Amino acid sequence: MSDLQQAAGGPLDAVDLAARVVQLVETGRRESTYKLATLMALIDICVEHSPAPDGTLTVPIDEISHRFVGYYWPQVRVFHQHGRLAQSRQGRSIPDKIADAKQVLLQDGLRTAEAAREVGHPAYRSLVRELRTTIAQQPLTHLQTVPRSRIRDDFLFDASEFHKKMTVTEIDRIGVIVLWPGVPEGLRRTSTLLRTFLRSRWAQDVIGFNRAELDAEDLDGFLFGSDRTALRALAEPLRELQNNRCFYCDGRIVTEVHIDHVLPWSLLPIDGVANLVATDPRCNLGKSASMPVLEHMSRALSRTSLSDIASATRIPLLYKRTDSAARGAYAALPTGSVLWRAVGSYEMYDPSHPNG
Ligand SMILES: [Zn+2]
Repeated sequence: MSDLQQAAGGPLDAVDLAARVVQLVETGRRESTYKLATLMALIDICVEHSPAPDGTLTVPIDEISHRFVGYYWPQVRVFHQHGRLAQSRQGRSIPDKIADAKQVLLQDGLRTAEAAREVGHPAYRSLVRELRTTIAQQPLTHLQTVPRSRIRDDFLFDASEFHKKMTVTEIDRIGVIVLWPGVPEGLRRTSTLLRTFLRSRWAQDVIGFNRAELDAEDLDGFLFGSDRTALRALAEPLRELQNNRCFYCDGRIVTEVHIDHVLPWSLLPIDGVANLVATDPRCNLGKSASMPVLEHMSRALSRTSLSDIASATRIPLLYKRTDSAARGAYAALPTGSVLWRAVGSYEMYDPSHPNG
């Protein structure tokens, strides 16, 4: 436990923890978006995984590296006339490496980062390994320090073995970071707030690094929206599976099919078939980024024959990940949260009657 935690007599509560994260992000000038990506990764991992009985969570450095690929994969597309957007002040960056590997992977028919991870493509594997070094040397080393100072308080995890010249051997030996007791639970409970905050800072940084007039609202959708073209292959198989009916309202799909992320993409970016359904445009647009009632989520997870669709389209199933993310996301929801059932129809979340 860090000195500060000891002085305060125990783990930080969730609100104080979130306040510390916000303060950390707001202090000093950033050279790249990597700290933001690291924090985002830690939050997503905390939502998807339960802590150990002592309240800690062990996070492999490799897992953070996988998340980096997932976040930057859609972001390395061309943004209008601006081309590929810079994500750091200088130097060859993590997104450049991801863009190079992505080209190779796309040629091999792998349309999403998750698909590449699932098949363990060599280009993907070496990318993750290469990024891991940069992630250990930079954001994991510097995450909890005030830029250009020696002020450091390891309130999230013990970073004393991390430094900016870490070798592959050292990283192999360390292998993981361990989030302090209370941190996983605190990050999970404040995940929605923190994610929204991190996204806005991320978009702001990108505007700063590119010195161009970028439209902030347009940019947010570009940076953090799902790459829908990658999912187009699912439209017909899912429509067929659902007998040409909308997953939510059961109406016939007469116009175009929309693919909806049951657990909203903005909440947890999971492009797995287990999290995707075919809907009519009305329900998809009506639901937008809302959290659905639990019943929709359970129905999505109880579908059969999804693995055939996953192998035919080469979009991974990600059942376990979707299932544990859903558990984590609902567990983090405060009582009274508004959930979406149908267009114009919402319900208050009551964990004591989860199916109500
Ligand atoms: Zn519908």
